[in-house]
Amino acid sequence: MRTGGCHCGAVRYFVRGEPVHVGRCHCADCRKESGSAFSVYAQWPVDACEITGEISSYEGRGFCGRCGSRLLDPVDPGDTLIEIRVLFEEAQYADDVSSAVTAAFKGVL
Ligand SMILES: [Zn+2]
Ligand SMILES: [Zn+2]
Repeated sequence: MRTGGCHCGAVRYFVRGEPVHVGRCHCADCRKESGSAFSVYAQWPVDACEITGEISSYEGRGFCGRCGSRLLDPVDPGDTLIEIRVLFEEAQYADDVSSAVTAAFKGVL
């Protein structure tokens, strides 16, 4: 089980198993929301995720209303996947993502 949450701790989430998809997006909205060149996300089945705390949202993008951390996209009825920004606490997982992103952007950034 992986655990994560926002910067202030008001929102926590837990996911079971491996993600069905991991990606990054460079669209204008993702650049604005992340304050960076891209955002990184992973998708899990909705029933593999548990959330505590309140998610605020703007145009379908979820964040902590207290500290502003970008968290996950709230699901609509019928959605089978939930998209989570990579804010997990396990150092190894963060290192894996960082290495993958660094490799993908070698020579670009
Ligand atoms: Zn917060
Ligand atoms: Zn995007």
